[in-house]
Amino acid sequence: MAACALFSRLRYSPPFPFTLTPSGPLHAAIHFLSCSCSKLDICLPLHCRSRHISRAPLVLSRAERRRVKAFLRWSQSSAEAALLGKAQAGRGLAAAGIGSPKAMATAVAEQAVDNPLLEDAEFPRFDAVEARHVVPGIRQLLTDLENELVKLEANLQPSWPGLVQPLEKIVDRLSVAWGVVSHLKAVKDSEELRLAVEEVQPDKVAFTLRLGQSKPIFEAFKEMKEGQEWNTLSEAQQRIVEIQLKEAFLNGVGLEDEARKRFNQIKQDLEKLSTKFSEHVLDSTKKYAKLLTDPRDVEGLPPTALGLAAQAAEAKGYEGATADLGPWIITLDIPSYIPFLKHARNRSLREEVYRAFITQASSGDLDNTPIINKILELRLEKAKLLGYNNHAEVSMALKMATLEKAEELLEQLRSSSWDAALIGNLQDLKDYAKEQGAPDGSNICLWDITFWSERLREAKFDINEEELRPYFSLPKVTDGLFSLASTLFGVKIEAADGLAPVWHKDVRFYQVKELSGEPIAYFYFDAYSRPSEKRGGAWMDEVLGRSELLAPKGRHARLPVAHMVCNQTPPVGDEPSLMTFREVETVFHEFGHALQHMLTRQNEGLVAGIRNVEWDAVELPSQFMENWCYHRATLMGMAKHYKTGETLPEEVYVKLKAARNFRAASMMLRQIHFASVDLELHSRFQPGGPETVFDVDKRIGWRTQVIPLLPEDRFLCSFSHIFAGGYSAGYYSYKWAEVLSADAFAAFEEAGLENEVAVKETGRKFRETVLGLGGGRPPLQVFKDFRGREPSTDALLRHSGLLPAVAA
Ligand SMILES: [Zn+2]
Repeated sequence: MAACALFSRLRYSPPFPFTLTPSGPLHAAIHFLSCSCSKLDICLPLHCRSRHISRAPLVLSRAERRRVKAFLRWSQSSAEAALLGKAQAGRGLAAAGIGSPKAMATAVAEQAVDNPLLEDAEFPRFDAVEARHVVPGIRQLLTDLENELVKLEANLQPSWPGLVQPLEKIVDRLSVAWGVVSHLKAVKDSEELRLAVEEVQPDKVAFTLRLGQSKPIFEAFKEMKEGQEWNTLSEAQQRIVEIQLKEAFLNGVGLEDEARKRFNQIKQDLEKLSTKFSEHVLDSTKKYAKLLTDPRDVEGLPPTALGLAAQAAEAKGYEGATADLGPWIITLDIPSYIPFLKHARNRSLREEVYRAFITQASSGDLDNTPIINKILELRLEKAKLLGYNNHAEVSMALKMATLEKAEELLEQLRSSSWDAALIGNLQDLKDYAKEQGAPDGSNICLWDITFWSERLREAKFDINEEELRPYFSLPKVTDGLFSLASTLFGVKIEAADGLAPVWHKDVRFYQVKELSGEPIAYFYFDAYSRPSEKRGGAWMDEVLGRSELLAPKGRHARLPVAHMVCNQTPPVGDEPSLMTFREVETVFHEFGHALQHMLTRQNEGLVAGIRNVEWDAVELPSQFMENWCYHRATLMGMAKHYKTGETLPEEVYVKLKAARNFRAASMMLRQIHFASVDLELHSRFQPGGPETVFDVDKRIGWRTQVIPLLPEDRFLCSFSHIFAGGYSAGYYSYKWAEVLSADAFAAFEEAGLENEVAVKETGRKFRETVLGLGGGRPPLQVFKDFRGREPSTDALLRHSGLLPAVAA
């Protein structure tokens, strides 16, 4: 299943508490301004969108935001001054309340001496960096980088060595040092570290924004594009220039006078509106509490849900509430709401809670309707200022898809899923409910779907995750994974513990080599859960990127280093870590990201590995790798009982495979509905016109919802992804990336999964294209290089059981 499996199971996808910034700091800076959801987690070039949803947001306080804004106001005038050769960085920084670089340097220089954070070591000093190093280290670094940036802006040469190389150095130094800090915060958190990060975060954000908005740099890139040197640049180099130009352009750097003023005003207004939108959703969620006192009302709920409901009651003042005896409170928070809809036998209560959920933030003081209208209006105006027809075009300017292609794909998936969802999935539920003697069967409603789906799933696939654990021990799983990588991509992965410092004794370090023995990359693997200091979820990120410019002395290039973080059960006593099947899929997923980072052939640092890969394409390698978990030879090769060595029983394998497609058509339609409404609102919809946003939701619903939405449905009022997160005109990315990864896997199926020679050959091709080219070539071209044609939806439909299977 795809990375977004978690979401596709929900009517509502919880908002991601971070912004997606796949292309590094410059991209991130722009994202902050354009998305303006006040949630920053920048300098993390890649987020596994659905995997690590628990990643905590970095929310700036009001005072911090003021400082960032002051800095930006200054930096804009400073950037213009630099253009005239009159940059006065010191004054500007002081005006922003950040202190002059000189004064700041004096203040922190002493503490920065011997700071492991700034050490130029082969691998970051994860073992030595402590909270106390963060503030002086980052301040020192920002001071240095600010000086370098001012120097660069004052002496800009529109050439590779005169512009891009110094820029890469600035971007890289910040990205590596900040990467260490934010990584430690994610895996080795402490009160001291949190405070230290909070203290320097605004300065870091301000610098990143300043860098992304530099008008002199924008002008120099423009000159490069128009100058003599252009034709001498490689494809990857040209792409770097084009991406930089487009990012700056989308950020309004190219606008003049009134247009620029208006543009900046709109951005600020949008920021406020998005924040308001989130606050309303949060407040309306908080406001709702359904008190239950009769045990019959909570019938069906599993112990964890009962415990949570009793806890909620206690928090509301019902002292002594217990899971067994109540009272219980059901809220609209996802961990409370979803289990209730899934398990509560009381149908009318399910209806009541469902209705509350779909009308959140849609009335009274917390009504998001006017905010939605204003956001859409301003996004449209902003797009027009930039010369685009609508916001969808702006969103897609830096993505793989176009509006037309995205809509075409959604329609193909929709029409192929409709009958299966209506005649298959829905009828199955009705029949099953009838079989169970429930009156719901003859009139199944929106609040019955989740409940009966869960009953049917239990009946059909009684897979007990816990019983499977002994078959998936971590050492066997990693052996299987590494041997798969070896077969497919011709690499050797060897333990290299001790070669690089680590942040915890359980963290493993590995070296990736060519079959000839030549080292090509490294990675850390932090597998186990440590709730006291480590965030939940799983993710991958870069530690160092491949770069020829930053090659250590005597070497051709700096080698890429990645880290993978998961949260599975630690070993107990002599027993190894025993995993659920979902955890196995997660490791494969993250490893797919890591492979794209590590097996890159790109020598240009700014587009090597995962850097500058379009966000609707970035989940291709990760979801691609998940497919191998269902490949018989791969799965059976690693699914060996850790004590007896016995292979996973055949009937369990069959069930795992079948469960993957359970209600696939309905899940597909649900995601398509969200994606289509998002695209419609950001392209053809006219704010203030005769049709309301809710009319659009209903109109599209006729083609995507097998049970029509209720007339009072106001789900849009809590659709934070597109109104408060970074997903506006981008929700389609979930399906887009799934199509790519399924189609890529289909190349192996076509070659013959049991044909080792053919699999190897296809694997090498995948390595040289999808994994090798990084952000140095447009992703559609990369896909065509691999597949020999444009992506097709057939494979995803077939894998989802919506097209006849071919012999595999
Ligand atoms: Zn991912």
